[in-house]
Formats: sequence, C-alpha cells, structure tokens
Amino acid sequence: MKNIYGQTKEDLENYFESIGEKKFKATQVYEWLYQKRVSSFAMMSNIKKELQKKLANEFTFSSITLEKKEVDDLTEKYLFRLKDNEKIEAVLMRHDYGISACVSSQVGCNMGCAFCESGRLKKIRNLEPEEIVLQILGIEQIIKQRIKRVVIMGIGEPLDNYDNIIKFIKIINDAKGISLGARHITLSTCGIIPKIQELMHFNIQINLAISLHAPTNQLRNRLMPVNKMYNIDMLIPVLKEYIKVTNRRVTIEYVMLNMVNDTEDCALKLAKLLKGMNIYVNLIPYNETKHLEFTKSSKERITKFYDILKKNHINVTIRKEFGKKISAACGQLRSKEV
Ligand code: SAH
Repeated sequence: MKNIYGQTKEDLENYFESIGEKKFKATQVYEWLYQKRVSSFAMMSNIKKELQKKLANEFTFSSITLEKKEVDDLTEKYLFRLKDNEKIEAVLMRHDYGISACVSSQVGCNMGCAFCESGRLKKIRNLEPEEIVLQILGIEQIIKQRIKRVVIMGIGEPLDNYDNIIKFIKIINDAKGISLGARHITLSTCGIIPKIQELMHFNIQINLAISLHAPTNQLRNRLMPVNKMYNIDMLIPVLKEYIKVTNRRVTIEYVMLNMVNDTEDCALKLAKLLKGMNIYVNLIPYNETKHLEFTKSSKERITKFYDILKKNHINVTIRKEFGKKISAACGQLRSKEV
C-alpha cells in the first residue's frame, strides 16, 4: 500500500479522477492531513464513509517512530526508526528568526567526503518522500510549534535521491499542505551536475547550496571523491547557468579545515573562481569527530579567510555553530549510533 504522506496533491488529484471522483477531494484530504493533522480517513468528516473506506484500502498512515531525542541549548536532535528498522536523524535549530529543521534524505551516504561522518556508513537506501515529510510532521507534533525553514542537509545526498526529494518539496511547499515557502527551503548538494541541470527547470524556487569546500580540483579530489566525476571546471559553468535561468543567488558552502583548505592561497583562488557570480560563501566551522583526522580552523584563520574574500568583493558569512555537544552539527549525525 502507498503512504498518504508521500502523495503530492497532484498524485491525489489523479487518484480521485481515476476512481471517478472530483479532483478537489485532494485539497480536502490535504487540509485534513496538514492543517488539521488528523491521522485516519475516518476523521475526515467531509468525505463520505464509502470513500473513506476506499481510501483506507489504498493508502496507509504508517509513521516513523521517535527513538530518542537529545537537547543542547538551541538544538534538538531526533532519532527516528523507519518501518524496516533503519534509523535516521533530523535536527531542529531555534534561530532568532524562527525554527528550522535539517532533514536527512538517505539512510547512509555514498559520496564519501573525507571529512564527513555521514559517509562512514554507506548508503543503505533512499528515503521515500513520506519518510522525509514525516521527519517534519514528527518534530512539529512533539514541539507543538510550526517549523519555518527546512534545510536538506542531514544524512545523504539529496540529488542522489532526486525524484523523492522533488516530491517531498512539492508536498511541503503546497499551499494547502504544510505550506512552506520555497524561499524557506534549502537543498544542499555536493554537486551532482546532471541533477543540478534538472533542478534548474523545476519551477519551485528553492535555495540551492553547493558544498564546494576547495578552490582547485587537486584539493577537491582529495576531499570529495564526487569531484573526480563532476569537477570544478564542469561545475562552475553549470552554476552560472543555474543562476541565470533561475535568477536566484546560490550559496557556496566551504567547511574550514585547518591547514587543508583554509590558507591565504585557497582564499585568493576561491575569490578568483567565484568572481562576478551571484553567490555568497558560507564558511562553516568544522566539527571535529573522533573518527577522522581533520581539525578545525582557528577563529583567526577563519577571520583572515573571510577578510580576503571580502576584500575581493565576494559576499561571505560565517556559519553559527549549532549542536556540538549532542553531535547534531553538520556531518555528525548518526555518529554515535554506528
Ligand atoms: N550531501 C549534501 C548534504 C549533506 S552534508 C552535501 O554534500 O551538501 C551538509 C553539509 O555539511 C555539507 O556542506 C557537508 O560538506 C558539511 N559537513 C559534513 N561534515 C561536516 C563536519 N564535520 N563539519 C562541518 N560541516 C560538515
């Protein structure tokens, strides 16, 4: 059986039409699911009993189960168990401008970035759209508050699970659904070029963040194996095209690894590489993990790097650190479980 939380409104409209019902029933179901948050068709009182039964035979409400929650100041980490007992994590961050959630897109990850914990566990499977939607619904149910922003930056490479991620975005973006504005949704990728090209023509204007982390192929090959397939010389022109087609600014993520990619030379090369592009660079303080040998750049080195970019007219910010104590910082999810 299909899961109701994995259906876009269009999927439901098609379903209703296929059984000879009116399309607008899809909107009614969406309102029950995402505005009134009921968890059975029997509670959808404006839908006839007979149709409720039909729906119940077609779709399940099966959920994901909360296994554990850890709290560290403004960050909360949620460990969920899926129907096949795999575990995934989502993180909630309380910013001054509202609550944001960082969701996972896969169980494990195949990208193998040298500095990242998530990749120590190879991809077991893609998450289904409903398993990503339910990370948000699950957290909202617990905190009894609405999430204002979603970043797809948890475990996994979202563009390696493209179709399910697109469905997920359509579901949470739908005005009759969770109704999260596209500008409040950010997808972060290590740079799967063909999928960035596809995303360019997706008509929901989400934010795109690219994990670049190095200004040269030589260094990026060492840090991110994906670069051997889709290197910087191929990536930059595609990003330029993306910016042109979507008319949106792209975020460049750059994790600050001590004495690896945080040198003056790297800063200058990065500035040259990105010159004139409608981007901003987000410098990410590295979260050290006990399994990997990389260390974090000092505040001084980060500031110096920042200053060089600024001086070279590159928009740049330094990311605030979140959730270090509970290993809920970027790239650290699941680290205690595996
Ligand atoms: N696969 C996607 C999204 C998940 S990773 C991507 O590569 O963008 C989210 C971000 O966290 C990426 O920029 C990743 O490089 C970064 N990251 C991974 N491990 C980290 C660590 N230990 N400290 C800081 N950032 C890390």
